[in-house]
Amino acid sequence: MKNYLFGAVLLCLALAAMAVLAQTGNASQAGTQTGETTQAAQPPATPRPAPTGYMDTPLIPGTKWHIHDDTRPRPAVIGPAANPGEPPADAIVLFSGKESDIALWEDQKGQPTKWRVVDGAMECVPKSGYVRTKQKFGDVQLHIEFACPTPPSGNSQGRGNSGVFFGDGRFEVQVLDSYDNKSYADGQCGALYGQYPPLVNACRKPGEWQYYDIVYHMPRFEGDKLVKAATATVFHNGVLLHEKRELMGPTGHKRIAPYVPMAQGSLQLQDHGNPVRFRNSWVRELEQYETSPTQLDKQ
Ligand code: MG
Repeated sequence: MKNYLFGAVLLCLALAAMAVLAQTGNASQAGTQTGETTQAAQPPATPRPAPTGYMDTPLIPGTKWHIHDDTRPRPAVIGPAANPGEPPADAIVLFSGKESDIALWEDQKGQPTKWRVVDGAMECVPKSGYVRTKQKFGDVQLHIEFACPTPPSGNSQGRGNSGVFFGDGRFEVQVLDSYDNKSYADGQCGALYGQYPPLVNACRKPGEWQYYDIVYHMPRFEGDKLVKAATATVFHNGVLLHEKRELMGPTGHKRIAPYVPMAQGSLQLQDHGNPVRFRNSWVRELEQYETSPTQLDKQ
C-alpha cells in the first residue's frame, strides 16, 4: 500500500513538472511575439544625413566646379507631363486643339490664317499659304503631331506634302506621306530637305497620327561670319532620324542657300497643296541650355 501511495505521489510530481514546463514554453513563445510587436511599434530611427555634395574632390577639367560640388547650382524644378507627348510645365503651347489656338498663328503677311481647325487639328487649306507662329524663337525643343490625308492622292512630292520650318522659313524638316510612296531620299518624310535623308523611314499609314520631336539650334554669327551652323536632332514617331546634324545652309528646292546673319524667327508649317493636319504642338525654349547657372561653369 505504501509503495502504491509513493508511486502515485511520484506520478503527480512528474505531471506537475510537465505542466510547469509546458507553461514556461508557452510563455516564452508569447514573450517572443510580444517582443516583435513591441519592436514594430517603435518609431523608425532617424537616418544619418547623407552628403549632399563634396568640396574635397578634384576639379572638373575646364570648370570651377569640384566633382559633385555641393555649391554647383541645382537645375530648376519643372512639372513633367502626365503622359508622353503632352507639354511639360515650362512649354509654350502652340496648338492644343482649341479653336482659339489658331490665333497664335498667322499667314506670311501677318494676317489671320485661312487654315482651319477640324476635329481638334489645324488643317492646311491649299493655296492659303504657309502659317507661322506670331512668337519668334531661337533654340527650341519642338513637339508636333501630324497626319497626311487619307485616302492618299498624288505621288512622290505631291502626296501629303508639308513641312516644319525653323528660322522664319529657312530650315525645313520635311513632312511627306512616305508610306509606300517613292520619292528622292533627301525629300522624303523626315529629311532635312535637299541635304540629309532620314536615317530610316518610320512613317505610319496616311491618316494615322504621327509625331516629331525636334531639337533645333539656330546658327550663330560674328558680324557677317558664320561661326556655328544651325543643327537639328529629329525623332519621328520616337525613332531617331538625325542627331545634331549641321545644316549646310537654308534648305530649298534644287538648291542650298548660303547662310546670311539671322535673328530669332518664327516656326512655320508649309502649304504644299495638301490638306495635312497638325495637332498637339508645343515648344520649350533652350537658350537656357548654354546660359543657365547649371551650365555657366567656365573658370
Ligand atoms: Mg515640304
